[in-house]
Amino acid sequence: RAPQMHSINPANGETFHSYDMHTSAQVDQKLTAAVTAFQSYRCTTFAERAAWMNHAADVLDARKQELAELATQEMGKTLASALQEVEKCARTCRYFANNAEKFLADELVHTEADQAYVTYQPLGVVLAVMPWNFPYWQAFRFIAPTLMAGNVGLLKHASNVPGCALAIERVLIEAGFPEGVFQTLLIGSKDVEAILKDDRVKAVSLTGSEGAGRSVAGTAGASIKTSVMELGGSDPFIVMPSADLDAAASTAVTARTINNGQSCIAAKRFIIHEAIYDAFVQRFVEGLAALKLGDPLLETTDVGPLATPQIRDDLHAQVQDAVEHGAKLLLGGELPEGEGNFYPVTALSELKSTMQVWNEEVFGPVALIFKVHDLAGAIQIANGTRFGLASSVWTQDDAERAIFVRDLEAGSVFVNSMVASDPRLPFGGVKASGFGRELSRHGILEFVNIKTVSIG
Ligand code: NDP
Repeated sequence: RAPQMHSINPANGETFHSYDMHTSAQVDQKLTAAVTAFQSYRCTTFAERAAWMNHAADVLDARKQELAELATQEMGKTLASALQEVEKCARTCRYFANNAEKFLADELVHTEADQAYVTYQPLGVVLAVMPWNFPYWQAFRFIAPTLMAGNVGLLKHASNVPGCALAIERVLIEAGFPEGVFQTLLIGSKDVEAILKDDRVKAVSLTGSEGAGRSVAGTAGASIKTSVMELGGSDPFIVMPSADLDAAASTAVTARTINNGQSCIAAKRFIIHEAIYDAFVQRFVEGLAALKLGDPLLETTDVGPLATPQIRDDLHAQVQDAVEHGAKLLLGGELPEGEGNFYPVTALSELKSTMQVWNEEVFGPVALIFKVHDLAGAIQIANGTRFGLASSVWTQDDAERAIFVRDLEAGSVFVNSMVASDPRLPFGGVKASGFGRELSRHGILEFVNIKTVSIG
């Protein structure tokens, strides 16, 4: 029989569903179906696409509870956060349904020709390779702009969330999108290269680790296909003396532990000015210690299990390496007994550049705390990483704020708030965090042919 993908509950290790993976013949049929669908879908009007996309939002809202429970069971996020995730997907579908036509309207340009304009046309079949950490959001922030632009989509989701992957396909079918406009492929990562090289596929969007990004961006480059890469982050959260310390510390707790600490834009490195270091760290560590680790289906739980045993093992190895090299353990750091991939909320200080945590993404509820003498020192630590996804800075000083905005090597700077994605704002990184942008008008422009028309 065909190899299978499994849904394994990270809270107890139980396999609760298995799915046959798609064979290469099935994948081939789906590619052909996608190309066939594109021939007519590309000619649909914005109004038609918007009707389907708004209907997808309605289906998401109507099925919110069942979709959220599935995500919690497959990857361990708290049910409350899974519900918010589904709601955000619905909002984003509506946002692109309402704005795509405006974003992609023809633009007249005055030249010597009788008439010149720029028109935006879909590319065709776009492949999405997506991670498990926000199993709906990662997919819908690709789907909403890409389909509204007139492209058709194929989703290769992470192997540990096959149920969510199929649920997304069902939502779009129920919404009324024509057959073949969006299809889920149940395939492993080793199958991505051949699909991306196939002439029928025109572009790829990947969210995931740096390694996956290198591989998929490499294949896209060799095939001369456009790609968007949204990779890891080691985002700084900088607190200066003028900051509102209570607000900064309580936001820091949320920013580190959101999604059980498994978010690319979670704050990972807390860079604190020495003048307020002790006061901030006391509040921050107290806030972290008060979080409740447990069953993600319970309303009282703040932090659930990590998605897979491998992620927990990798995280614990990073923490142990830091402690062995002299880091100070302020909280957590001990593997709990019992079933499930639970990891305690952990805080480390006195970090050195020789430690793994200094250089790698820390994908779990582990906070790294740094003490700095001044603003220049804060920027040096913040930029001293391969990554450049986002950043959060806390200061009431306008001059300091301007320097952070100018000098932080990151795709975004959030001042006096935590980083969050928003369909209205571009999202993406620099350096090893990737390239290209998702969301907003910038996101929808990634997968279109910007066609110049010059007449006379
Ligand atoms: P991966 O990057 O391995 O997985 C993300 C997606 O990419 C999955 O669909 C995966 O498929 C696919 N993939 C992986 N390798 C390749 C490849 N060589 N070619 C094509 N597709 C590939 O993330 P993991 O789940 O393994 O997590 C590991 C680390 O990645 C985390 O600890 C974190 O650092 C980072 N990460 C970052 C995320 C972010 O939001 N920026 C999200 C998730 C992970 P499959 O599942 O079948 O392997």
